[in-house]
Amino acid sequence: MLIKKLLSWLLPYTCILCGHPSHREQDLCLACHQDLPTPKTSCNICAAILSAENNMLICGQCLQQARPFDATFALFDYKTPIDKLLLELKFNQKLVNARVLGELMADKIQSTWYKTRPLPNVIIPMPLHFQRLRERGYNQAMELARPIVKRCRIPVNIHACQRIKPTAPQATLTAKERETNVKQAFTTNKRWDNDHIAVIDDVITTGNTMREFCHLLKANGAKRIDVWCCARPIHRDD
Ligand SMILES: [Zn+2]
Ligand SMILES: [Zn+2]
Repeated sequence: MLIKKLLSWLLPYTCILCGHPSHREQDLCLACHQDLPTPKTSCNICAAILSAENNMLICGQCLQQARPFDATFALFDYKTPIDKLLLELKFNQKLVNARVLGELMADKIQSTWYKTRPLPNVIIPMPLHFQRLRERGYNQAMELARPIVKRCRIPVNIHACQRIKPTAPQATLTAKERETNVKQAFTTNKRWDNDHIAVIDDVITTGNTMREFCHLLKANGAKRIDVWCCARPIHRDD
């Protein structure tokens, strides 16, 4: 008991993946960190995987169709062990996962994504419907945003936008159903004129929800929208 207490004082950080002391000031050890699935070439606008021969950095779909957002930054590919960490965050109250992943996003924002460009002036976590928020007790997108807000000193706005439709999980629907499922799912009580917004979400599964939300923000004046997601799917079917 005493040894355990002493150890937790000496080595207070435990890796969320292997469960061992992490030996650094983060609940993730270096070995597990280095194994995480970092995306290769992605579309600058939507973060879809690009084929090796595509050297334009914009995917075919974004070339054909204007998107309501201007850029997407994805930290990881949605595969093991990121899928597990995000599911535990959503369904098992593992808020520590959001802290670690949010810190990794903050690192990337500072070191790479915004090294040479201006930061957004406000962060909006993808809103959850109030029923789901009540069941879960927290919005996982807000939990991911916390370390970023703190480190990058960008204000977060969680009150001006609402999800007013309790939408069915997108993954269970056909492509057509997904579109109608999210139609008019959000409202905002604010104009966003001249705002450069970062919309943060855990994972962008089909893109429909994100597009619907960003449409609303753009229709209400947003100047530029950057999407930040912890993980992007490795297959896109939208
Ligand atoms: Zn580890
Ligand atoms: Zn694209």
